Amino acid sequence: MDNPAPPSVRIWVATLAQADLRLRRWLDPREMGRFLNYESPADQARFLLGAAMLRSAVGQQLGIRPEDVTVNRECESCGAWHGRPRAPGSSLQLSVSHAGLLVAVAMATAGPVGIDLERMRSSPATVESWTHKEARFKAGGGEDLIVHSLPLPWPRHLMAVAHQKNGTVEVSTSRQRLDLLER
Ligand SMILES: [Zn+2]
Repeated sequence: MDNPAPPSVRIWVATLAQADLRLRRWLDPREMGRFLNYESPADQARFLLGAAMLRSAVGQQLGIRPEDVTVNRECESCGAWHGRPRAPGSSLQLSVSHAGLLVAVAMATAGPVGIDLERMRSSPATVESWTHKEARFKAGGGEDLIVHSLPLPWPRHLMAVAHQKNGTVEVSTSRQRLDLLER
């Protein structure tokens, strides 16, 4: 039997409980500067976890250690270090989103990707439509994107992803699938 094609989009979702401070050693100096600039521990934890998940995902794909992954966050509009993350030297497309206690990272091996995670602060239909708009925007808003919602095992949160047509998506919410530090 043929093996199914590997997913072209992989998504990992983790909770802030996994934001182990030892993950700081994976950060590069600019990420560390940004981490230290957040005033609240929750914001620090969200950034740390997102950065670590991104490094773990790219490292897994490229076969290198998370701390050896080069991440470029230069904003394409203003040059500041708050832009969409990219992994120079690879064709991987990346997107990060967080809401409440959850952080999501999406990685596409082909074509654009955008992920959006939101807490339900108003009606589910309103929030869902917002996640679709955001995911599409973060994927660059091209014509040939498909956008869909993805189920989460946590209540009161919604997530949507935008990616190129014909892509297959795999979502993982288990720590074992993401090579973070053991606790
Ligand atoms: Zn900017």
